[in-house]
Amino acid sequence: MAHYLDELNDVQREAVTTIDGPVLVIAGPGSGKTRVLTYRIAYVLEQGVEPWRILALTFTNKAAREMTERIERVVGPRARYVWAGTFHAIFARILRAEASKIGYPPHFSIYDTDDTTNLLRNIIKEMCLDPQQYNPNALRSRISIAKSNLLTPALYRANDLMMEQDRQARRPFTADIYERYVARCRLAGAMDFDDLLLQMHHLLRHHPDVAEKYRERFRYLHVDEFQDTNFLQYAILHLLAKYPGSPENLFVVGDDAQSIYAFRGATIDNILDFGRDFPQLKTFKLEQNYRSTAHIVAAANEIIAHNQRQLPKKIWTDRRDSQKIRLLRCMTDDDEARRIVDLIIEQKNRLHLRNGDIAILYRTNAQSRKFEEHLRRQNLPYRVFGGLSFYQRREVKDLLAYLRLTVNPYDEEALVRIINYPARGISDATVSKIRQHAMAHNLPLWEAMLTVELPERARKAVLNFRMLVENWQRRAAQEPAYRIASDIYRQSGLLDELKSERSTEEGLSRLQNANAVLDAISEFTDQASSLPLNGDAGEAPSSVPDTSLAAYLQTVALLTDADLASDSPDYITLMSAHAAKGLEFRSVFITGMEEMLFPSFFALETPGGLDEERRLFYVAVTRAKELLTISYAGVRYRNGRLSESTPSRFLSEINRDHYENLGGIGSRRIPAEQPPARASVSVNFSPRPSYSSQPQPSVSADDFKPSPPEAVVPGVRVRHLKFGDGIVRSVEGARENRVASVAFQNDAVAERRLVLRFAKLMVIS
Ligand code: ATP
Ligand code: MG
Repeated sequence: MAHYLDELNDVQREAVTTIDGPVLVIAGPGSGKTRVLTYRIAYVLEQGVEPWRILALTFTNKAAREMTERIERVVGPRARYVWAGTFHAIFARILRAEASKIGYPPHFSIYDTDDTTNLLRNIIKEMCLDPQQYNPNALRSRISIAKSNLLTPALYRANDLMMEQDRQARRPFTADIYERYVARCRLAGAMDFDDLLLQMHHLLRHHPDVAEKYRERFRYLHVDEFQDTNFLQYAILHLLAKYPGSPENLFVVGDDAQSIYAFRGATIDNILDFGRDFPQLKTFKLEQNYRSTAHIVAAANEIIAHNQRQLPKKIWTDRRDSQKIRLLRCMTDDDEARRIVDLIIEQKNRLHLRNGDIAILYRTNAQSRKFEEHLRRQNLPYRVFGGLSFYQRREVKDLLAYLRLTVNPYDEEALVRIINYPARGISDATVSKIRQHAMAHNLPLWEAMLTVELPERARKAVLNFRMLVENWQRRAAQEPAYRIASDIYRQSGLLDELKSERSTEEGLSRLQNANAVLDAISEFTDQASSLPLNGDAGEAPSSVPDTSLAAYLQTVALLTDADLASDSPDYITLMSAHAAKGLEFRSVFITGMEEMLFPSFFALETPGGLDEERRLFYVAVTRAKELLTISYAGVRYRNGRLSESTPSRFLSEINRDHYENLGGIGSRRIPAEQPPARASVSVNFSPRPSYSSQPQPSVSADDFKPSPPEAVVPGVRVRHLKFGDGIVRSVEGARENRVASVAFQNDAVAERRLVLRFAKLMVIS
């Protein structure tokens, strides 16, 4: 027997070797679902199945890559022919091959969220609607819901519920906007992210020959994180796996308790429907957790027990070498970041953790900033995932827009973005003339540029620009991506433009980012020519590598930061709890565990929202292998101002026995300056640090008269009821956000940071 099967327990092994018919592995975190899925693919390959008959759908492209590498170690290089990737990436690839069937150009563009929002903003303007009322982001998610439910604009209009909701939201023209949006994407030869699913569904549903081809091709289908598939994704899987004579080899793994994308339409009903749609289903339950130590597993079980609706599951571990969960109570968000960075240094020294063993998780991407500041100060390498992603940066999007336009000249968003950047004498007035002409004649902008009437100078500028792009287009059809991309970078003037800004730090980093895109293209060109190619849909692998610009752009639209090469492979990971799904780290910090933050304000307002937040917390907790630290702050900056917070209700759902308080760690103790807990939120939780070692009050309350915060300035002497007399070292922030650093005379702590809005200080000199 192959040795990799020895790395599995009995149930896992049975699941791996069950290769006929539908299989569901439903199990808790860390129980080896992803490992089972990976080994099962290796096992199928070992049975002699051709790799391009295997489809593996994962949550990120990075996960797919790691999976492929793992399989390669077992079965060798043919693993690279397996079709592994996210739903979006795999479908984009199939849609390219079949684009003509559904009326798209083969090199269709993929509009990201920004492109979609910009286009919507324009449409709203063209329709003379109020952009406050018709908020582009709200419309974007509305359209996304419609698409995910297979509602075309016509069906949308006919749907009483949708129309009524729009009326109530005072956006009665939503259907019209939707219709225009769809038409404009078509005209631009562009699909947005939802289209990739929608069009894939359409293709399989309405083109029997195509459906036949892919059913024949993909004999073994696999899905990781099945609990987060949405209705449309499931419908597509169903079309691929359910038909007369199908072997129904659909292997899915998931955990209903980790479903965290309901807001995007993910539905755990898919798990329940699966058994109904595929009655031959074999279900395996894995119960042993191999990832985490006992306190973490026990805490996770306690958290999730608070949710009503879930499939019963037990999870246990035999790891006894367990550290308790450390609870860190902080005064401010800044204090939180500083102390966590101190703890990281301590863990690295004491336990020889590498940076890569450590993750800082949070509920919202905006929370990363404080951690970045303190990590930088300590020279610790880190990477932030999510937030403003590399691929959304202005300069990166500018360069990519040039490349996109070269491959697909109808791409409206790309064109508008760079038509006059760098400046080439095409004014806004000219662009709007082109737009109006395009609308009046239902033309793509690219065509409208030729026929619109313009003053001579403007016309020349426009035609020159077209000629420039046309020249690239001709070359792009023959030359490898890197060569043409680096010429575009220079000839467009973009490189010079960025160079001229490099005297500032920000300008320099923009230049570096744009250069990094070229590095990525160079890497792509090299890799594409050295790797065996997955065959185009339906055929065996071809021997000619595709190094074209079009092939590069095909991948780039769906890349996330996780796919970026990193200079320093050993970095601390900063990401949202959502993004951490499926990952594991030796030491995890879950930060900002406060009401209205985690659980989020929106979740508290949404039916079922609280349960979903709890699942998200459960996901976060179960990422930790050995060390788990949870922190919260008494006050934090939110939306530009300091606000008070109370500890998250989820903290009280873990039994105290699993906690260890970090109140007294290091030299910094938590001052008693906690703001009063808000009465409106009931939190029956108070695992507070011990205050016994706090300095005793040294002044009498009688003659204490707090001074106004403005009076507290660097250099003055101040008195505090608890800490005694001290000197103000520095003051940061403005108005109600002022924070003073004070060195008190008889204090073990060198300096305390006090929020002046809460801390009462009396100036004594
Ligand atoms: P999640 O729900 O978080 O995605 P999962 O169920 O996919 O978790 P894996 O990531 O596959 O879990 O496994 C968790 C850890 O346990 C991994 O480090 C994996 O290598 C290890 N593991 C899984 N099965 C075994 C086993 N039989 N023996 C030893 N280690 C195992
Ligand atoms: Mg997994």
